[in-house]
Amino acid sequence: MPAASRFVVAVAMTLLSSSPLAAQEPDWVAASRETLEHLQAMIRMNTVNPPGNELQVARYLDRALKAAGIETHLFEPTPGRGALVARIKVNGSKQPVLIMGHMDVVGVERAHWSVDPFAAEIKDGYLYGRGAIDDKGMLAANLETMLLLKRNVIDKGGTLSRDVIFVANSDEEAGGDFGMGWLIKNHPELIKAEFALNEGGRTRIVGGKRLYVAVQNTEKVSHVVTVTARGPGGHASIPLEGNAIFRLGRALAKIGAHQEPIVIKPTTREFFSQLSKVWPNATEKRAMADVASTDTGRVKRGARVLSRIPVFNAVIRNGISATMIDGGIRTNVIPTDASAKLNIRTLPDLSIDSVVARLKKAVNDSLVSIEVTDRGEDSPASDFHSPMFEAIRESVKALDPSMTVVPYLSTGATDSARLRTWGMQAFGLLPFPMNQDDEDRMHGNMERIPLASLDFGTRMIYGAVLRVAK
Ligand SMILES: [Zn+2]
Repeated sequence: MPAASRFVVAVAMTLLSSSPLAAQEPDWVAASRETLEHLQAMIRMNTVNPPGNELQVARYLDRALKAAGIETHLFEPTPGRGALVARIKVNGSKQPVLIMGHMDVVGVERAHWSVDPFAAEIKDGYLYGRGAIDDKGMLAANLETMLLLKRNVIDKGGTLSRDVIFVANSDEEAGGDFGMGWLIKNHPELIKAEFALNEGGRTRIVGGKRLYVAVQNTEKVSHVVTVTARGPGGHASIPLEGNAIFRLGRALAKIGAHQEPIVIKPTTREFFSQLSKVWPNATEKRAMADVASTDTGRVKRGARVLSRIPVFNAVIRNGISATMIDGGIRTNVIPTDASAKLNIRTLPDLSIDSVVARLKKAVNDSLVSIEVTDRGEDSPASDFHSPMFEAIRESVKALDPSMTVVPYLSTGATDSARLRTWGMQAFGLLPFPMNQDDEDRMHGNMERIPLASLDFGTRMIYGAVLRVAK
């Protein structure tokens, strides 16, 4: 065979052996229109939890997936609540990849919305509506990913190395008893995968420019700690030394002034190391590089600067927030006890008991007890060198080479912790580029998604799944 022909055959074989490459590039204009229509339809179904009523969305998704010839399983964990699992089945050599989203949304303060939160109105390049970014936007992008994989890869005679599983679940905003927890307990075989893509990350626009994608691979653990002060009770007309409320006040003042030690986890070191390369503010940029270094002096110096920024302070140490206070029965009675609740978020692998020991030492009062009343569960971090993380990075780079992809330790808790404990490598995304203002509307008023970001996010997920399953 002449050299030229051999070359042609070699190229053809390369294409055949990695068949998704032979997949047709989707028609993105049509795909982005379709994604938007699905998102609007889902926003128009009111799934405020409680009560949720997610079954209507589950049925909608079921119909859309079935129409494309994708296998689905629709469940009703409890009346009105839905769980949908769909699967693109291939004869792959690798373990499945799972893409998931929740169908329920949080409530609205109607007075603070100038548009109907459930009308899915489009204004000035934004789609407004409850759930636009949490989490129906990701559901729509995941749905479109499934449809495109089926039409542009499978139906065109291509294949994938992994099954792709789609999950839409209920009750994420209220504990997840009828959501991911229910699916893991009742249908583990349907959702078992090597990798999962869930909510929980960030794609940030800073200074008008798309800057970075933070992929959540680990999260803080939430605990409730109760501080109780005791003292003599009596009639309020005779002031008593040791009044429990004053004692509690002194204890809380000391707890408020207490700072947990700096601990830089591997994810946080990588996060700041990568971010320092692109961060616009010079002082913070240097502080990030310092924190990411291995020099103790530099870490301390950098941490001092970053501690002043609440979102960064929260990832470099355990966080303590006082959230509730309770004491007294009437205005003229001195109560014998008064208590406060602290929500403490520990960094992964750090012990809540050690935090309590440090607080006891700081308070130093035998009439004040500090106890863990609700203990969170730690879960292992997902590997930010895994093929899934790399696939996300490559997908982002193909869309915008100027963006940085960083692993991210989230301060909020997600369903991914359940999956990680179960042995899955779960990663959190919010694939839609947004500035701080747009992001702050999550769970807030006038929630919206920039239309261009919906398109970007859909391409990011499609690209990542196609790459990890190639
Ligand atoms: Zn959410």
